[in-house]
Amino acid sequence: MRGVVAENRGAFVLLVDGATATAADGFYCSIGETEAGEPITGYSLIRDLAGDAAAVLAIGTCSSFGGIPAASPNPTGCVSVGALLGREGIPTPVVSIPGCPPHPDWIVGTVATVLLGGVEALNLDEHGRPAAFFGPLIHDNCTYRGHYDRGDFAEHFGDHGCLLKLGCKGPVTNADCPLRKWNNGTSWCIEAGHPCIGCTEPDFPYETSLFEVITPAELTPPAVYPPASAQSVAKEISPGTAAVVGGAVGAVAVGAAVGAAKLAKSASGPGVPLEEAED
Ligand code: SF4
Repeated sequence: MRGVVAENRGAFVLLVDGATATAADGFYCSIGETEAGEPITGYSLIRDLAGDAAAVLAIGTCSSFGGIPAASPNPTGCVSVGALLGREGIPTPVVSIPGCPPHPDWIVGTVATVLLGGVEALNLDEHGRPAAFFGPLIHDNCTYRGHYDRGDFAEHFGDHGCLLKLGCKGPVTNADCPLRKWNNGTSWCIEAGHPCIGCTEPDFPYETSLFEVITPAELTPPAVYPPASAQSVAKEISPGTAAVVGGAVGAVAVGAAVGAAKLAKSASGPGVPLEEAED
């Protein structure tokens, strides 16, 4: 590794996963030893390599912000890679890709962007996160946002509805999970029934209890969702407007039927004959 660095000074990106133990001169994270039998620590390796890198990418929440290993009373003195570089006076830019775990797309996308356009091509937010992945607020794109807006909350795990009362941190967490989803677009935490635990934020996991109910700040619903007050307006609808709305609903119903047929066709695999699906 040191040989590669020596041949590519200033032209490589250093990826660091995990928080770095600093107590006892980093002894708690020894990853090898020198020919003289001295421990090579994660601390010393990062300190020696980071100064020659074009950028350091902090992979995961522990590397980005300290995370669980940095929580009291851990005696290892774990810190984020940004804190380590600050302590050592190393000016190399640090890009944070938090998440527990971080999405593979966030890592690959950030590396590709840096390789193509340098760190300056990344639009970093106040926590050093690429805005392309950490700009959207979970809450604004959530599967349950409509339920939130009309006050339809789950009271127990397994209930249908917005998970705010079960401790969801979506209103204060930035990441594109609802849009990107996980496991090749299969699902994501909230869609699987668990509140967002805010794993991409600097105060994860212990500044706020995982299941403590937060009070969302002033949040303006995106235009696609009518405010909860619109529900009552519907009661005062005029007969003329009702006809127009009725037509629109009919159009939506037809569209939904066509969409359902298409879905059925696309879903018709082994054991689902196409003719049945079309019926
Ligand atoms: S509070 Fe959580 S579950 Fe409810 S809409 Fe916001 S992100 Fe979704």
